[in-house]
Amino acid sequence: MIFLYNTLTRKLEAFHPIKPKQVSMYACGPTVYWFAHIGNLRAYVFSDVLRRTLRADGFDVTLIMNITDVGHLTDDADNGEDKMLVAMRREGKTAYEIAKFYEKAFYRDLERLNIEPATKFVRATDHIDDQVKMIQQIEKNGFTYQTSDGVYFDTSKLEDYGRLSGQKLEDKKAGARIEVGEKRHAADFALWKFSPVDSKREMEWKSPWGVGFPGWHIECSAMSRKYLGVPFDIHTGGIDHIPVHHENELAQTEAADGVLEANTWMHSEFVTVDGGKMSKSLGNIYTIDDLVKRGYDPIAYRYFALGAHYRTKLNFTFEALEAAQNAFSRLRETVRTWDAPGKIGCAEYEKKFAEAMDDDLNTPKALAVVWDLVSDANLSTSAKATTLLRFNKVLGLGLEAFVGKLVAVPDEILSIVEAREQARTKKELKESDRLRDEMQANGFLVEDTPHGPVVRNVVK
Ligand code: AMP
Ligand code: ZN
Repeated sequence: MIFLYNTLTRKLEAFHPIKPKQVSMYACGPTVYWFAHIGNLRAYVFSDVLRRTLRADGFDVTLIMNITDVGHLTDDADNGEDKMLVAMRREGKTAYEIAKFYEKAFYRDLERLNIEPATKFVRATDHIDDQVKMIQQIEKNGFTYQTSDGVYFDTSKLEDYGRLSGQKLEDKKAGARIEVGEKRHAADFALWKFSPVDSKREMEWKSPWGVGFPGWHIECSAMSRKYLGVPFDIHTGGIDHIPVHHENELAQTEAADGVLEANTWMHSEFVTVDGGKMSKSLGNIYTIDDLVKRGYDPIAYRYFALGAHYRTKLNFTFEALEAAQNAFSRLRETVRTWDAPGKIGCAEYEKKFAEAMDDDLNTPKALAVVWDLVSDANLSTSAKATTLLRFNKVLGLGLEAFVGKLVAVPDEILSIVEAREQARTKKELKESDRLRDEMQANGFLVEDTPHGPVVRNVVK
């Protein structure tokens, strides 16, 4: 039995899917106007670990993830500009070129973090008709009104609007820094926005209300019901989605179909950097490429992220990442020396691990079980290998490439190591660097230790 924290009920709940043994899951995906940063990627490490844990518990999981390529405005509400159009201006490309480029970069990041691709990725711009149809349904049910700039959802018409975040409409009004403009209430949000009268947008479509583009939230309501049906089991996202994006998704589905969009809503906390917010002005928004450029292995970031529970803030510092990478390297090098896995594992550790993961994905506790297993001298390394590979399926740390796999270093590589040692002794640094690059191109890394050079496989 797995227990998950449900933002909607504010409780830890025993999870029961709608259909036995099957889980339908929707994870809000990226807005493809820029590279995903390490904060964004934590949200996807989280949904990946959730999916893997459910699978280990015997469920068959269908995961839908959207790609937002239109309609997400710069302030998350209905003001500001479409993020895609900002990127267009910045890069002098078309919006579709921008979307295609960053979508591809996103898939590459997922791969480098060993995050399994969704069962299906769905783009907002490929589902305009589904979104228009859903808005028509919401309109027919009496939840909309029109202003000079779009079609809006009237939040006062939905009795329990605000139930996800626990905000009352009045609070939202009082605290609103939002331009209300022609909106009837501060919390009302755009379902469809009209293109500017005096200029043509690159991304625009005809609709029963006029030429324009969908609001950001409707894509998820429309695509989740299309691919999963509503209600579905689990909806995930970052914690910032609770008060606006997910609140509004939930409202739309309720207004259109009269049902809850999803039964369980799960949210991962933010990543902070050096204890504070990531921001452009501080120059501390890091991407996976930034980490790679500084010599870190992307999977070390995954290991680092798993060190904190998903509902606690994760404070990123390079020192902490370095420590995580060192611990993780030690783990990989240790398990190389183990015997090959057999059929029999270590039941006691497996039980402890499953208990940790089934307790709302307690990954720090699960990692502690991993280390206890590794350092247990009373077990055969073959049994430990069997169990570790089972844990690895859930944690997704790519350890299958290491367990029981000693590095076999070919003679050519050994001669390069020797030549590099000589170059180093003669202080021919350029030559020594060249030889190191040559080794790397052949799949080997050399690390200089007080006991001489140590050769490792390059991990892809
Ligand atoms: P976006 O591409 O802006 O739609 O965001 C993608 C995901 O990243 C969402 O689930 C956000 O909630 C999440 N997110 C954004 N900023 C952070 C952050 N600093 N830490 C963790 N998650 C974040
Ligand atoms: Zn969404």
